[in-house]
Amino acid sequence: MGPVQAVDQPPMAQTTSVPAAGHVLARPSASLAPRIVILGGGFAGVTTALELAKRCAGVLPVHITLISDQNFFLFTPMLAEAATGAVESRHILYPIRPLCGAWGIEFGEMWVEALDLDRRRILARHRRSPARQQVHYDALIIALGATPNVGMAPGAAEHALTFKGAGDAVQIRNRVIDLFEAAALTDDPWVRQRLLTFVVVGAGHAGTELMAALEELTRGILLRHFESIPKDSVRLVLVGSAVLPQTATNLAAYAKEQLLARGIELETNRAGKVTEEGLTLQDGRLIPSACVIWTAGNRVSLVVADLPVAKTKDGRLLVNEFFKVKGPAACTPWATMRRRRVRTPGLRTWPRHR
Ligand SMILES: Cc1cc2nc3c(=O)[nH]c(=O)nc-3n(C[C@H](O)[C@H](O)[C@H](O)COP(=O)(O)OP(=O)(O)OC[C@H]3O[C@@H](n4cnc5c(N)ncnc54)[C@H](O)[C@@H]3O)c2cc1C
Repeated sequence: MGPVQAVDQPPMAQTTSVPAAGHVLARPSASLAPRIVILGGGFAGVTTALELAKRCAGVLPVHITLISDQNFFLFTPMLAEAATGAVESRHILYPIRPLCGAWGIEFGEMWVEALDLDRRRILARHRRSPARQQVHYDALIIALGATPNVGMAPGAAEHALTFKGAGDAVQIRNRVIDLFEAAALTDDPWVRQRLLTFVVVGAGHAGTELMAALEELTRGILLRHFESIPKDSVRLVLVGSAVLPQTATNLAAYAKEQLLARGIELETNRAGKVTEEGLTLQDGRLIPSACVIWTAGNRVSLVVADLPVAKTKDGRLLVNEFFKVKGPAACTPWATMRRRRVRTPGLRTWPRHR
């Protein structure tokens, strides 16, 4: 399994025109087996690859290729626990290669740069390689997921931490412990207050879960080990118009009650900008903090954003009831979706996929 990186998006090699060399994935073959290429090694991509392989085994000859930028599968439901150390971060990662190998699925760890739907090819490369590969397919499944939308507020991309990848969990934990160490060395209450103020922007599932876990880590565990830090020094602020807005109202109300009971501040004013000083709300108030974590909103992969096919207003691919992207039947791929109902004109609304 490859290293867990603090930044999940790989630095791209400088050269863009070096031709592909070495072992090329999904090479056109003389056999009649169709080449199915799946992009993305998350829940959707891995499950689709395994399910296809199982269902086709011994029945239909297919060549399945899975491409993802990481060779491990991340179990996001326990990312908050990994961030706070309740579980070892490596324990929520599962290597993809053995899974694929067991079912004859070809795997390539590559960053997908672009899709050419007309010519049915993918341009991708490994982060250490200057050489781009052209991967050909007969059928394409896009499962590239989404990332926190740090473009929603100025400074968020530069100054806020995100909470999506395995590396994010490591970074958050390191930052929290580092700030406690710094706070233990100051007598200035204002400096200490800023160092020990932890802000999570976004009160959806990920943000709320993370805030609760941070409360356990900071007040429940770390304070015990820092005798010089006064017990009431930790400030926790969850920023969002509502707690768990996508959840049933009684559960959301219960979660809100629990957060307040644990001394977590709920800030309903919108986030304005993030700077080195902390988070400034849209009403102008500054929450001084050296740890702002951004979980609000989602944005689709740039590869998807560039595709010349039908999309929703926020850039997601429009699919029909078979998850087929809307467009000319001959060249359109299939796509998976995340926590959204799908509306296609003239068709029904399809249920949540979660
Ligand atoms: C902290 C957290 C907790 C969550 N908890 C829950 C929960 O308890 N229950 C629940 O149902 N859902 C939960 N979710 C949501 C769930 O994780 C997502 O719905 C799910 O991950 C979506 O799966 P996916 O395969 O579509 O996308 P992803 O899991 O995002 O997978 C996309 C994959 O594509 C790869 N990729 C992206 N771009 C490229 C590229 N250009 N080239 C190559 N590879 C690329 C990514 O590295 C990733 O491996 C949680 C999410 C988070 C962040």
